[in-house]
Formats: sequence, C-alpha cells, structure tokens
Amino acid sequence: MLGRLGELKRNMKAGAIVGVTGCMAQRLGPRLLTQAKHVSLVVGPDGYRALPELIAAARKGEKFTATDFDLEEHYEDVVARRFEGVKAWIPVQRGCNYRCTYCIVPFTRGNERSRKLADVVRETGEVVAQGLTEVVLLGQTVNSYNDGTHDFADLLRAVGAVDGIRRLRYTSPHPNDFSDRVIAAMADVPTVCEHVHLPMQSGSTSMLKRMLRRYSREDYLSDDGYNRRLPGRDGCRIRRYAFPLSRSAVRRRLHVQVFDAGRNARRAYAERVAHS
Ligand code: SF4
Repeated sequence: MLGRLGELKRNMKAGAIVGVTGCMAQRLGPRLLTQAKHVSLVVGPDGYRALPELIAAARKGEKFTATDFDLEEHYEDVVARRFEGVKAWIPVQRGCNYRCTYCIVPFTRGNERSRKLADVVRETGEVVAQGLTEVVLLGQTVNSYNDGTHDFADLLRAVGAVDGIRRLRYTSPHPNDFSDRVIAAMADVPTVCEHVHLPMQSGSTSMLKRMLRRYSREDYLSDDGYNRRLPGRDGCRIRRYAFPLSRSAVRRRLHVQVFDAGRNARRAYAERVAHS
C-alpha cells in the first residue's frame, strides 16, 4: 500500500488531499501519517460519519486519524447512493467473532454486531421504491446474523417477503452457521436464489486447522455435511491459495473436492428442475 501511495503522490494535482480509509487504515493508524507524509486522513470503518468535517479540515492543512471502534455504528441514517440497474447491496452485519489466522477483519472491524431486522426491511422497501428488484444481504459471516431477537432465518423470511423483491442473495456465510432454520428458510422463501456462495477456504482438514476455520473437510463431504444439506442449491466455493504451507498436493486435493461438490450440487438442482 505504501508503494501505491507513493504512486499517488507522483500524480497528485495541486490542492488534492489524500486519505486512507477502511481496514488497512484501521490497522496502521497514525503510523501512516509519518510513513507517507502526503497523507492527510487515516479513517477506519467506524469513522466515516466524520468524513465531511475531516476532509474540510484537511483542505486547510490539518491531519487526522479516526480509528476508534464504535460498536453501535451501523450508518443507519446514511442513505446509500446506488448506481446498479437492478441490484442493491444491503449491509446487515459488521465485524466478526471468528479469528481465522490469516484474516485482518476481527482486528480492524471489531466484534460482530447486527442491524435491527426492522431497519433492514425498511431499507429493502426503499430499495424497491427506487425500482430495484434484487437484494444482496452483506455481512462478514452473514448467516450468524442476530439482532438480539431475530436470527438469519427470520431475516431471510422478512426481507424475502418484501413486496417487489424478486431475488434475494447473501454473502458471505460461514459454514458453521448454516443452521437447519436457515436451510428451511432458503427452501421456503421463493425469492431466495438457488445459489450459495460458501467460503470453504481449503479442502484439507489439517490446513483448515491451521487456518482456525473450526470445521473439517469431512464436515463438507459427510452424509449430513454442508454440501448435502443444501439440496437443490447451486454452490460456489472460495478457496484460499496464498495461505502459508498451501502445498501443491493440498491444492490438487482441493480441486477434486470442488469438482465433486459442484457436480453434486448441479446434479441435485437439475433433478429438482426436471421434477418441478
Ligand atoms: S470468518 Fe471470515 S471475516 Fe471472520 S476471521 Fe474468518 S475469514 Fe475473517
């Protein structure tokens, strides 16, 4: 990132200011202001509300860091500007309670917290009023959503029932949070798309242990494993190749698993379509 900032410096127009936002800003904090002297703002994910004032101050030559966690911050009253034709991305959860060994998120976004179901449903209604018909619910481990009263199954049912919604998707779920209630909601709600974007990360149990993913290869492939528990849903699985010790044998094994899992899911879906 410092290299990229150096590149930006070479191309900066007179009067421009440079700010760094998001997870890397949260992680590096005030250090960035000393390592890259042309940077004026370092703002973590919970500091965006102050951006207008911070930018105005930066234009006068001041420098700021805003990297405090705010566990209540959901930007509830900030109206998103949407540019896509039919699809709206709606955040429902921030932070993460897992601690995968390769991941920065729990340290830069804090612990998991969920928006109220009623607020998500209200935003979905606003999205429909703008003429959008597809919604993607967003969260780091979106299917562990819990607002204190409702879980992710409730959320799928409530958002999926909003008048005018034609397709409902979500990303990214964690395999350990696929409860029977969530699976039942997916089966019952016609607007929930027949597709799951499931981060598997590795097909090797020992590698998954090193990653601290808290599930095994067998959890996927056993009779009641994740793959079999989602009949009729097509699957897309994320693999992580840059993790230390990801040797080629492990990668080859993973390819076999991905192929098998994808083939099984596609076959189940085709059978369902043929019998519907
Ligand atoms: S579950 Fe996802 S967001 Fe959370 S630590 Fe693991 S990889 Fe990161």
